[in-house]
Amino acid sequence: MPLLNLKQVTKVYQQGEIKVEALRGIDLEIEKGEFTTVFGPSGSGKTTMLNLIGALDKPTGGTVKINGDSIGKLNKNELALLRRNHIGFIFQSYNLIPVLSAFENISFALRIARKNSKSEEKEKVFNLLKAVGLEGLENRRPAELSGGQKQRVAIARALIKEPKLVLADEPTANLDSDTSHEVMKIMLKMNKELNTTFIFSTHDPLVMDYATRLLELRDGRISKDKIKEPATN
Ligand code: ADP
Ligand code: MG
Repeated sequence: MPLLNLKQVTKVYQQGEIKVEALRGIDLEIEKGEFTTVFGPSGSGKTTMLNLIGALDKPTGGTVKINGDSIGKLNKNELALLRRNHIGFIFQSYNLIPVLSAFENISFALRIARKNSKSEEKEKVFNLLKAVGLEGLENRRPAELSGGQKQRVAIARALIKEPKLVLADEPTANLDSDTSHEVMKIMLKMNKELNTTFIFSTHDPLVMDYATRLLELRDGRISKDKIKEPATN
């Protein structure tokens, strides 16, 4: 069974009198362990598609299945559990908790999953803080961090739970190219070692380079679907 199965998925947003057809019939299967990038012009439906795959929203038509479960049939609690236990989100707006430090924002995600002892938790958070280049900044709150630094906290927070699926909406948009390479390498390592499935949306050729599958969206439809060799550096 593929990890994700989308069949004839449509999404229509109603804005007052106007209907926006954001997705116009998406058929897609993604297997466990894929490292996929979705690209396409602004407004082509990338974020909408990631929201549906992440069970944050329901389709207007068609079905979205995660691990065989149709998200249209799950209730609010079931959707929340699915997201909490299996999906890591890296979205453009960061969604960090303002009163918590960088360290606390990351460890909070673990605390909810309740998998580790305090000392294991601390070590895990520090390792990941270091890996995303935030060593020494662990006590800062989001307001005391730059956009790129906040993005790195958001990345660490999504990865700390070692979810089955990580969804990243333009994850490198606020990062310089050195840091972008660093975070892509962390994600690639997780992909190889834990078989974590990653789906990125991006305009960034650097992210596309790392991907093993490229999907192009145009006007709410998949216009290209290509398997490729990943970057080797
Ligand atoms: P992308 O991420 O590729 O830029 P989006 O998925 O954000 O594309 O948007 C696809 C289309 O849906 C656009 O025309 C956008 O304006 C519209 N759209 C997205 N979200 C909403 C919303 N919440 N309400 C109304 N229209 C929306
Ligand atoms: Mg978008």
